[in-house]
Amino acid sequence: MSLKIFIDGRYFGERDAKVSVFDHGLLYGDGVFEGIRIYNGRVFKLKEHIDRLFCSAKAILLDIPMSHSQIMRATLETCRKNKLRDGYIRLIVTRGVGTLGLNPNRCKRGSVIIIADKIQVYPPELYARGMEIVTVPTVRNLHSAVNPAIKSLNYLNNILAKIEANNAGVEEAVMLNSEGFVAECTADNIFIVKSGKLFTPPLSAGALYGITRGTVIDIAREAGIEVSEPNLTRYDLFNADECFLTGTGAEIIPVVKIDGRVIGSGKPGRLTRQLVGKYHALTKATGEPIYV
Ligand code: PMP
Repeated sequence: MSLKIFIDGRYFGERDAKVSVFDHGLLYGDGVFEGIRIYNGRVFKLKEHIDRLFCSAKAILLDIPMSHSQIMRATLETCRKNKLRDGYIRLIVTRGVGTLGLNPNRCKRGSVIIIADKIQVYPPELYARGMEIVTVPTVRNLHSAVNPAIKSLNYLNNILAKIEANNAGVEEAVMLNSEGFVAECTADNIFIVKSGKLFTPPLSAGALYGITRGTVIDIAREAGIEVSEPNLTRYDLFNADECFLTGTGAEIIPVVKIDGRVIGSGKPGRLTRQLVGKYHALTKATGEPIYV
């Protein structure tokens, strides 16, 4: 069955879902997006994702031509039209059609696109065994440039880091900021466990305000685990007892090797596994119902 894709209030089949070559999203990466998961007929953390979409848009002075509740309804409707119970939603807002020049004022109206499809995640063995990651030369963008908190369509910085990870034969890269502190990975936030406590870099180190990151912090605190957000260096990663990454797509994935250093026992840690269990329980039981 061909997907039904929402573009500016209308639904199109995959072959007909097209944008203009003059869209500044294509010409300049001028736009914002969200990746959202569907579990068990519900959209997980939908409100939080739409809130972040509006924050990203505000930061780049992009007027989203729909309200929060209109986007919420359109997202749920797109899931229904595609008969999904489990999957992944890509919500995109571009600056819209303009001229070949940079000037965003030439773009009269932003464009909203919603794609809901099946999800492809890392292979299950990686979750069971844990993954290997490396730090890469490409540093995280400065706040004073394109702030990494903005989930913009301009992901080239992350793509370069991903290429460097691939060249090293691994799936994910740790990105440091210009001061050498750990920021995050190309599409995931990073956590370590040391002496029973959880640590993750502060958002000011150059991380996205990850929704999974926030959820994991809440789950951990509810379970009485102490969580703090200090600046972390590679040394802290190497000497952690456990390490894991968080993201909407990846969920919680254990890391067992970084830059050739074995982390902890070299197997997914006890606290990581505990958090994975609690996270899965939450994804199954909460979220915006699609079929009501
Ligand atoms: N960092 C980056 C750069 C991301 O693109 C993402 C989203 N895949 C994340 C972190 C994780 O954020 P979230 O938990 O909100 O998906």
